[in-house]
Amino acid sequence: MIYNINKIRLDFPILKKRINKKRIIYLDNASTSQKPKIVIKNQTKFYKNYYSSVNRSIYTLSNINSNKIEEIRIKISKFINAKSPEEIIFTNNSTESLNFLAYSLTKNINKNDNIIISIIEHHSNIIPWYLISKKINYKLKIIKINKKGFININDLKKKINKNTKIISITHISNVLGIKNPIKKIIKIAKKKNILTIIDGSQAISHIKINVQKINCDFYIFSGHKIYAPTGTGILYCKKKNLNNLNIWKSGGGIIANINIKKYKINNIQFINSPWKFESGTLNIESIIGLGDAINYINKIGIKNIINYEKKIIKYTLNKLKNIPEIIIYGSKKKISIISFNVKNNHCYDIGMLLNQNGIFIRTGNQCAIPTMKLYNISGICRLSIAMYTSKKDINTFIYVLKKIINLKK
Ligand SMILES: *Cc1c(COP(=O)(O)O)cnc(C)c1O
Repeated sequence: MIYNINKIRLDFPILKKRINKKRIIYLDNASTSQKPKIVIKNQTKFYKNYYSSVNRSIYTLSNINSNKIEEIRIKISKFINAKSPEEIIFTNNSTESLNFLAYSLTKNINKNDNIIISIIEHHSNIIPWYLISKKINYKLKIIKINKKGFININDLKKKINKNTKIISITHISNVLGIKNPIKKIIKIAKKKNILTIIDGSQAISHIKINVQKINCDFYIFSGHKIYAPTGTGILYCKKKNLNNLNIWKSGGGIIANINIKKYKINNIQFINSPWKFESGTLNIESIIGLGDAINYINKIGIKNIINYEKKIIKYTLNKLKNIPEIIIYGSKKKISIISFNVKNNHCYDIGMLLNQNGIFIRTGNQCAIPTMKLYNISGICRLSIAMYTSKKDINTFIYVLKKIINLKK
């Protein structure tokens, strides 16, 4: 199949927009991705024709939406090759999925235990563990990265012991854009019965995810980074762990019965997994949007997207490498993200000047202050691509960046 980039770009209305007469060049896809027409159109269609709550009533509209949500659960389970749709739990984003796991899994942990994360995690995979470790007094161990930026397996082996209960690490770094050796790490963890959590926020739209092959216990991501609206997250939980997972947030929508006698609650029966983990009214329209986004990706083909993005990232790297003033962080084996700085310049100055030319990149600490400290910097310029990033986008970016560098000399 020929990857028709021009046709794909037409599917994303925002790419046609101009600001101050300048075509938008959106290179901040690691923060959030733009939405295809079909996702945008169906959101309105839903509000106009189908809007209602789910899982709470027997009337027609509610049934239509309840069924739709379950269809989308199946679609997502197939997309990441889960064994069963019951392994898919809807949350509000990656951050909520990680907080869920941090609070839920640590209920059975005591102060002699330890949990392992890495130094290059997003704050969302650091702070929840840290805050709970302060309460329970378990040890939070942080593993190093090697010179090229990959999680250091030797350091992991050193830090694992019989009291290690959980390893929670990122699949693709949101700063360095490189893929960690998660299969190796999970193999090591399995031998010692340690639960594994993979933060797939940056991986989900750029590589093929097969949770059965990865063999992790949990895999999490946000819908809005995979062309869906904001407001949905996914928490994949391997079936055998569903029973050990404690309810983290509770309330309406998850109760089968309450035994109450004379104003005293004796006990509560919850409904089954995974629904018992989804208390509160779901973000229905966003879940529907996530279904539409996955349909769209499936139509183009994730393999085709991967092949195309490989070419674009290589093309960008080659151009950037030839600019002597550019410092690129981490191994050059980038998947979707390139973080860089311009020698003797602050990232905000570069970001501001690029913005004046209609080019949008992320600047600052990337929600990863520990990584910044590791490299002795306060911030970084991060360029991140998506399925619609064109060579023309990159050419303009490089042209403008060179102009900025020459101006500053
Ligand atoms: C974006 C991101 C998160 C947080 O995602 P939210 O949608 O903001 O909750 C967590 N981890 C990584 C690696 C990310 O890139």
